[in-house]
Amino acid sequence: MPFRTTLDTYFPNAVSEITFVAKTSDWLHELGFSAENCIVSLGRCRDELTLPLLQKLRTIWGSVFDLSALGGMLFAGKTGFSAAIAHAPTDVTRKRYLFFAFAHIGIDATDSIGLHLRVGQGDPSATCGALSALQQDLLRGDVDLALDPTDVEQSLLRQRLVPLIEEPDIDLASLTKLAEQAISADLQNMIDLIVNPEEEDYAIITGIHIHTPQHRNFVWVNNARATVQGVTHSL
Ligand SMILES: [Zn+2]
Repeated sequence: MPFRTTLDTYFPNAVSEITFVAKTSDWLHELGFSAENCIVSLGRCRDELTLPLLQKLRTIWGSVFDLSALGGMLFAGKTGFSAAIAHAPTDVTRKRYLFFAFAHIGIDATDSIGLHLRVGQGDPSATCGALSALQQDLLRGDVDLALDPTDVEQSLLRQRLVPLIEEPDIDLASLTKLAEQAISADLQNMIDLIVNPEEEDYAIITGIHIHTPQHRNFVWVNNARATVQGVTHSL
């Protein structure tokens, strides 16, 4: 696999989508989560490249509340997250919620990170496009932090990430890891606002979804922890 060196360099221990879904579901089942007793929410970029992971999660977990937004950022807010957990099964002794959230990036056939050759196109394109657009803004020294009503999600993405960026020439892999950290922090913040761990169990799994040639997708996990009956477990 020509892209494997790049994959291992940037995302050591990344596993295939199938392995990721199998491994995490085994762990979550051991902790008492099942398709019958919990609601799954997924934060992902709107990019069609992220759909296979949503579909694989659906095969194991059934319905998935889709928290997608540009860059995989979590902009659903308290209303969106409250709706997600309100859809959990109620005929249980404890309500249970699973939250998956991912930034994403491509690796193309020439081993270039941040690019992906899409079906029907002759040249690879930037992936994630939203993060790449921010990277280009930074390089030009032209970052507008106002909320543009014609570009709401990208405006919010800029507002959330720009204060975290130390160097304007940040590379896309580093920017993607920074986005994942912001996504993870925002997810925990939202859970702290809406979930009561004394009465409800939840798990958080965040990382980066990686698209390599020939539709082979991988997942690099950065956080995997579950709080069950008030006790926190890590994968
Ligand atoms: Zn994207």
